[in-house]
Amino acid sequence: MKVIIIGGGIGGLSAGIYAQHHGFQSVILEKHHTPGGQCTGWDRRGYHIDGCIHWLTGTREGSAFHKLWMEVGALDGVEIIHPESFLCFEDQGEQLSIFRDLDALQASWTELSLGDAENIREFCDDVRLLQSFSFPVEKPRDLMSLPEKVRTLLSMKDAGAILKKYGRMNLSEFARRFSHPAIREGLGGMAPDTFNAAMIFFAIAAFTTGEASIPKGGSRALALRMAERYTSLGGVLETSCEVQELVIQGKRVHSVVCADGRTFEADHVIAACDAHFVYHQLLKGRYRDRAFEKRFANPVDYPLASEILVALGYAGTMDSVGEKLPWSLNFPVDPISINGRAINRLTMKHFSHEPGFAPEGHSLLIYDLNQFHEDFDRWHDLSRDPEAYKQEKARIGQAVLSATEQRFPAMKGKLSVLDVVTPKTYQRYCNAYRGAFMAFFPTVKGKMMEHSGRIPGLENMVLAGQWVQPPGGLPTALLSGRAAIMRLCRKTGQSWRL
Ligand SMILES: Cc1cc2nc3c(=O)[nH]c(=O)nc-3n(C[C@H](O)[C@H](O)[C@H](O)COP(=O)(O)OP(=O)(O)OC[C@H]3O[C@@H](n4cnc5c(N)ncnc54)[C@H](O)[C@@H]3O)c2cc1C
Repeated sequence: MKVIIIGGGIGGLSAGIYAQHHGFQSVILEKHHTPGGQCTGWDRRGYHIDGCIHWLTGTREGSAFHKLWMEVGALDGVEIIHPESFLCFEDQGEQLSIFRDLDALQASWTELSLGDAENIREFCDDVRLLQSFSFPVEKPRDLMSLPEKVRTLLSMKDAGAILKKYGRMNLSEFARRFSHPAIREGLGGMAPDTFNAAMIFFAIAAFTTGEASIPKGGSRALALRMAERYTSLGGVLETSCEVQELVIQGKRVHSVVCADGRTFEADHVIAACDAHFVYHQLLKGRYRDRAFEKRFANPVDYPLASEILVALGYAGTMDSVGEKLPWSLNFPVDPISINGRAINRLTMKHFSHEPGFAPEGHSLLIYDLNQFHEDFDRWHDLSRDPEAYKQEKARIGQAVLSATEQRFPAMKGKLSVLDVVTPKTYQRYCNAYRGAFMAFFPTVKGKMMEHSGRIPGLENMVLAGQWVQPPGGLPTALLSGRAAIMRLCRKTGQSWRL
């Protein structure tokens, strides 16, 4: 059976690997010259800019997700970097760290603000409750038997309790429980105000158990290991091969046509790329999905986030800065105006754990500046004038550089802007809808979605990738590709062999 997979991101690579394992003849068609999609990195002036992984769920040996990453060759023999803290916030001379050691976190926060001790204890206890929680990964819900569904539901008891307690509260509301400004600012700043507070409990629980750390070598290396696993199983990876059209006959996709004129016939098609692009471009709006359309039309309850990534090169080692810096530091800056909105804080990540990402004696610094709905519209308009777009990127790069010099005087005169990426970049390279780097973020009003990928009206094409289970992310992309092949096995009467 010939399976065409559109998109060679983590979702597409996962589908390809599991397809090959199960005897299907698969071809991945990827638009870019390198596989990986948003899980990528690129080289500039002797530096390697890592464009994705802040943390990867599944880094703890023996966990359910770790097993899957091993199945697809992503973590084979890979050292895992466990930063001491996930993020450190500075506020009025004080620092607040999200330590990996939860007891240390509780003690240091309590020391900072004794008046918040009770709230801090409750917060840490609720995180502890989730530390043993394991997201069910074995099968998608639609393939589960009734007893399996019941077992899964019971295994989610603690997660359900946290969702019930915090899922109807937005993050800023939760942060206001604390009286100390650094704690308020720190917790409230972990995600935009309207996002539901429950998500930070899951995130911190995963981080504090070593389940959400960083694979050495970074994002591009991880994707290339999966691509290697795929081709070693006999899969065919066609890069620089953008699918432009689907030839549909009756209820079946007969073939896909690429920008270079090549045509690939298919028994089954898995679209492992952006959902909006699939429904609106490839399927020309003829097979719209109600669940997705409802979300695309309501960016308040179903927000999409993108970002500006600024990469700086520092001609010095991090030891020369004069203070011990955490992997990720959030600090206040003089306002930087972007799209009419003031950015008052920056988060700087340094990569001293990856000496290969910078020339010897130099360091790579990366900043991610959140961008939302209106920001994308402004970038879209600006990109119509390439010179103005270029100048705006240069201005932002320079502003971030100056703010860094101001915070770290030792870096003065030794910084250079390596690259500035905007939401338009993600759209251009990955066909990402509104530049989104993940699917709809959880808000108080937004409903969770678990999509089977089925496209009503088409018998042999499904959707995969991070969009089928918001909020997305790398583990979701991995699971979605696996689930797409599990469903195909079920459909063709084949047994699942892993
Ligand atoms: C800056 C940034 C930081 C992130 N940090 C994290 C993190 O720390 N942890 C985490 O879990 N997740 C993170 N993510 C999210 C993660 O990268 C994504 O969730 C994941 O990579 C999505 O994988 P995917 O395969 O679903 O989609 P994509 O990566 O978008 O892959 C889709 C692929 O399809 C290709 N494609 C699109 N249209 C076509 C076409 N017509 N023909 C052929 N090919 C096509 C694209 O080029 C792309 O390669 C981050 C993302 C970004 C951008």
